[in-house]
Amino acid sequence: MEKNYPLELLNTWKIGGIAEFVYWPQTIADMSNVWQRAQEAKIPVWLIGRGSNLLLPDEGLPGITVVTTSLGAIEWGDDYTVQVEAGYTLARLSQEAGERGWSGLEFARGIPGSVGGAVMMNAGAHGGEMAAQIISITALWADGTVKRLERAELEFAYRFCSLRGNAWVLEVQLAFSPGDREQILNRMKEYLRNRTLNQPLEKPNAGSVFQNPLGDSAGRLIEAAGWKGKRIGGAQVSEKHANFIVNTDNAKAKDVLALIEAISRDVQSKFGIRLQTEVACFNEARGTKHEARIEGKQSSQNT
Ligand SMILES: Cc1cc2nc3c(=O)[nH]c(=O)nc-3n(C[C@H](O)[C@H](O)[C@H](O)COP(=O)(O)OP(=O)(O)OC[C@H]3O[C@@H](n4cnc5c(N)ncnc54)[C@H](O)[C@@H]3O)c2cc1C
Repeated sequence: MEKNYPLELLNTWKIGGIAEFVYWPQTIADMSNVWQRAQEAKIPVWLIGRGSNLLLPDEGLPGITVVTTSLGAIEWGDDYTVQVEAGYTLARLSQEAGERGWSGLEFARGIPGSVGGAVMMNAGAHGGEMAAQIISITALWADGTVKRLERAELEFAYRFCSLRGNAWVLEVQLAFSPGDREQILNRMKEYLRNRTLNQPLEKPNAGSVFQNPLGDSAGRLIEAAGWKGKRIGGAQVSEKHANFIVNTDNAKAKDVLALIEAISRDVQSKFGIRLQTEVACFNEARGTKHEARIEGKQSSQNT
């Protein structure tokens, strides 16, 4: 456990104040224990994976910030299934599956999250999404119980999983299908090449800021509203992809939130479409208000 740890080291936007405590559980039992102890002591507890879809507050986080990145056990089955802990890197899992000639996670090769974060966000790209590969999920619930749920017991939609706000994902069982190794690896290379061309990967960012509205693209709407390249403080709408906000110069969370609000208002007034954020915002602790959907709530109420 570290005290007074900079949150900017825990997310790809490189934004955030100081976390009171940060804890990296090594095992699933550690996850349950920290949850129980925080409940008993009535301390707020927050959960972060690889922080690639997350806006953390300038004011920092009180209580314990739990980071899953050390939860990395993996067991490859001989039946095209894998059992993997929540902190395992999704892109690495995708690459390793491809090298075995296992098809299914090619879409995830360029997504820099953890397996647990990817399940919670139902991460997807290139026509694929996590939901399609899931056999079962083992999760920790707010009452401290650990339960395994089969795919049929879970609901998924575009960037939505019914566990969100209710449980911590501990481990996941995923299914693949047999494929041609070279073809799989080539497909992944192509996806990565597209990302390098179209996404501002050279600057700190958190992927797509807004969800795509049905039948349209958030990037197209933001660009059409004239926001490409605009900035507030150290945060800038990427010149390369209008649905990315990049940290160009020590951006603060308040800069990003101000851009999010301004863009949302403008797109609503110009096109009548209300954009929903895709990034999760841990900003309730100190009462920061903004219009975007708030995720990752203080876990003394919601895990
Ligand atoms: C360059 C770039 C490209 C990206 N491209 C894509 C893309 O193509 N498609 C896409 O869908 N996303 C994309 N993303 C966003 C992001 O990588 C995914 O949403 C990823 O799945 C988030 O995982 P994470 O571990 O980083 O989650 P975090 O950002 O750490 O957390 C996100 C939310 O999930 C919760 N969470 C994390 N782990 C767990 C867990 N074990 N149990 C319960 N809740 C948990 C957190 O509390 C938080 O609310 C991109 C991001 C970047 C920076």
